[in-house]
Amino acid sequence: MTRSANLGFPRIGLHRELKQALEACWKGSIDTAALQATARELRKRHWQLQRDAGIDVIPSNDFSLYDHVLDTTMMLGAAPQRFANIDDKTALYFAVARGTAEAPAMEMTKWFDTNYHYIVPELHRGQQFSLGSAKAVEEYLEAKALGIETRPVIVGPVTWLSLGKTRDDGLDPISLLDAVLPVYAELLATLKATGAQWVQIDEPVLSLDLSDAQKSAMRRAYEVLAPVAPRIMLATYFGALLDTTELAASLPVSGLHVDLVRAPEQLDAILTALPGNTVLSVGVVDGRNIWRADLDRQLGLVSRAWDSVGPDRLEIAPSCSLLHAPVDLDGETDLDPELRSWLAFAKQKLLEVAALTVAMQKGRAAAKEAFDASAAATQSHRQSTRIHRPQVKERAGAALDLDRRSRFPARRDAQRARFRLPAFPTTTIGSFPQTGDVREMRAAFRHGRIDAPVYESFLEAETEKTVRIQERLGLDVLVHGEFERNDMVEYFGEQLEGFAFTRNGWVQSYGSRCVKPPVIYGDVSRPAPMTVRWSAYAASLTDRPMKGMLTGPVTILQWSFVRVDQPRADTCRQIALAIRDEVLDLEAAGIGIIQIDEPALREGLPLRRRDWDAYLRWAVDCFRATASGVADDTQIHTHMCYAEFNDIMPSIAALDADVISIETSRSDMELLQAFRNFRYPNEIGPGIWDIHSPRVPSQADMEALMRKAATAIPAEQLWVNPDCGLKTRGWPEVEASLEHLVQTARALRA
Ligand code: GLN
Ligand code: ZN
Repeated sequence: MTRSANLGFPRIGLHRELKQALEACWKGSIDTAALQATARELRKRHWQLQRDAGIDVIPSNDFSLYDHVLDTTMMLGAAPQRFANIDDKTALYFAVARGTAEAPAMEMTKWFDTNYHYIVPELHRGQQFSLGSAKAVEEYLEAKALGIETRPVIVGPVTWLSLGKTRDDGLDPISLLDAVLPVYAELLATLKATGAQWVQIDEPVLSLDLSDAQKSAMRRAYEVLAPVAPRIMLATYFGALLDTTELAASLPVSGLHVDLVRAPEQLDAILTALPGNTVLSVGVVDGRNIWRADLDRQLGLVSRAWDSVGPDRLEIAPSCSLLHAPVDLDGETDLDPELRSWLAFAKQKLLEVAALTVAMQKGRAAAKEAFDASAAATQSHRQSTRIHRPQVKERAGAALDLDRRSRFPARRDAQRARFRLPAFPTTTIGSFPQTGDVREMRAAFRHGRIDAPVYESFLEAETEKTVRIQERLGLDVLVHGEFERNDMVEYFGEQLEGFAFTRNGWVQSYGSRCVKPPVIYGDVSRPAPMTVRWSAYAASLTDRPMKGMLTGPVTILQWSFVRVDQPRADTCRQIALAIRDEVLDLEAAGIGIIQIDEPALREGLPLRRRDWDAYLRWAVDCFRATASGVADDTQIHTHMCYAEFNDIMPSIAALDADVISIETSRSDMELLQAFRNFRYPNEIGPGIWDIHSPRVPSQADMEALMRKAATAIPAEQLWVNPDCGLKTRGWPEVEASLEHLVQTARALRA
C-alpha cells in the first residue's frame, strides 16, 4: 500500500530549545548530560508528532547536535589531526565545530542553495577512516524503545566526499571513495543486524553537474553498499536529476526519492527510467518554503506516478528534509487569519503528506477536510487584493531603466570634482557596534516600555557619537552606523508592503544559530521613505560626505521566504523598484554617496550551470534598476562578502557600481586576482580587516594587504575599508582598528 514518508524534521525545537541547551552547555551552566536529555526529549517529541500526523515512514538520525555533515564526518572518524588531543567525544565534536584556543574550527559553508551551513569535511591524500560514531544505530534503537520504527538517515559517501575540501594539490576528493566505503558498509551492516528494514541515504549531489569521476563513484558506492545494507531509499532533492536520471535509476537500491516541487517536469523521465521493482518516493510538499500545498494539484502529480508504479511501490513525501522549514504554524496567532491560511510549517506539511496518502489509499473523500481547506486557501490566494496589486504589477512589468546617464569614466570625473576625496579614500561598510545598550533600547521600544521620542533621541545620540568618532579618526566617507536597524533585511521588510513576519518561524542557519526570514507574500511596494530620516540626520551633523545605506533587492529576496505564485525575478523587480525610489529620495535629500549592499548575490546562483545566465541576467538588471536614476555625480557603492567571485566576474562588473567593497582579508587578497584578470574597470575597496575576528590588525598588517592589492589593481582605483559591517564588534577594537586603517591610507598616500 502507498505509504507516507518524511525525510527529516527540524531539530531546533519550536521554542529553540536546542539552541538554549547548546548555548547553556557551551557556557558551562548545564552539563553534557543535561544537553543530551534535552536532545532526547526533542527527538521523542518530534517522532511522536510525526506519528500523530499520520506519517508511516519516520526518519531517525536526522537529528543533530550541530550539523548532519559533521555527524557523518565523526561517523567516519575524520576529525582533523589538530584536535587529536581531545578524548571526550562530545568535547571533540564541539571543538571541531567551534574551534578551541589552540585549533581553529573546521570551515563552514552553505548546504547547496539553502541558508543552512554545514561543516566542510577536510580531506587529504592517504586519509584513513574508521567507524567513529554509531549515532545512527543509537538513535534507531532509541526510537524503537519508544515503540517507533524508523528509517535512519545518513549522508551518502559521494555527497560527503564531494562537499569536502582538500589542500593537497591535484587530489580529487572522490579518489578517497574506497577508503570510506568500508566504514559505511560496517555501519549499514550494523543497522541491518539491529533490525532496520530501510535506510535513507541522501545523495543530493545527484542534482548537480557531476564529473565522470563522481558518476562512477556513485555506481561503485552502491554496488558495494547495497548487498550489506538494509533496503536503501536513495534520496535526491533540490532539483531535477537531468543527465543523472539514468544513473540514479540504475543504482542497485530499493527506492529512489525525487524532488517534484523544484522539478515536477522530471516525473516522466523518472518513470521511464525506473526499474520495475524500485520504490518511488515522490517529493510533492515543499520542504524549502512555508506555503500551503495545493493538494488537488499535487494529487494529480501523485496519481500520475501511481498509474505507472502502482500502489505498492509508491511513497509520498516532502520534497526534501523539513530542516529548512519552521516547526509549527499553530503558534502564529498574531498573523492575519487569511494570510495564515496560506501557510504551512513542518507539522502542517506532514499533515498534507498524510492527506495525500489517505486520498491515494481510500479516495479524496476520505481526506475531504484537508482538501477543502487547501482548495479554499488556494482560491482566496488567487484573488486576494492583499497579494495582487495591479499598479505594482504594472510598474514592475514595464521595461526597467537599466543605465546610468553616463558611462563610468565620466561619472568618476564628476564625482571627483564633487567630493574631492584624497587618494586611497577611507570608509566603512555601514554598521557600527550594536552594543547591549542598543539592543536593550530597541527591545524596550518594541515592548512599549519606552515611547518613540525616547527611543529616537537615544538613536540620535548614538548616531552623533559615531559621526564624531569617525571625524576624529579622520575617515573620509562617513556612515550613520545603522543603530535603528535590527537586521539588514528585516528593517526594510517591515517598511515595505507585501511582507509579513512570524513569531516563531525559526530555521537553523548553523549550529545553535537560527534565522527568522521575512515572508514575502504579496506584491512589494514602498509606501514611504525608509532610511532618509536617519541618513539626513547624520549628514546634518558633519561637513564630510555621508554615505546612505540600503540593502539590495537580490539580498532581500534571497534572505526571505519568497512567494511561489510568480517567478522570483518578478518579485525581485518589485523590490528593486522600491529600493530605486529610496535611492532617489536619498539623493533628493542631499545624500551624494549611496551604498546598495548585495552580499547574497553570489549565493543565489542556481545549482546547475545551465541556469546561471538567466539568474545573473535578472539579478544584475534588478541591481542596475535600483541605481540608474541618479545623477552622474552621485556615487553608487555596493558591498559583497563571503563569495567566490571568479565565476561571476562579468556580472559583478555589469552591476556598474562606481565603487564595490568586498571581503578579502581572510583570503589574503587572493580574490583580487579575479578582479585583476578581468581588468575590473570601476573602483574597489578590498577589505583589509577581518571583522569576523576580535583581533585588532596592526597598521603593518593592513599596509601589507593594501600593497598586495595594489599589485593587482591600479592604485587610483583603490579604497581602504574593512571586510564588512562592524555591528558584531566592540567599540574598543573598532576604534583601534579604524585608527590603523586611516594610518594605512595616509602611509599609502605618502
Ligand atoms: N551595511 C551592512 C552592515 O554594515 C552590510 C552587512 C553585510 O554585508 N552582511 O552591517
Ligand atoms: Zn558584508
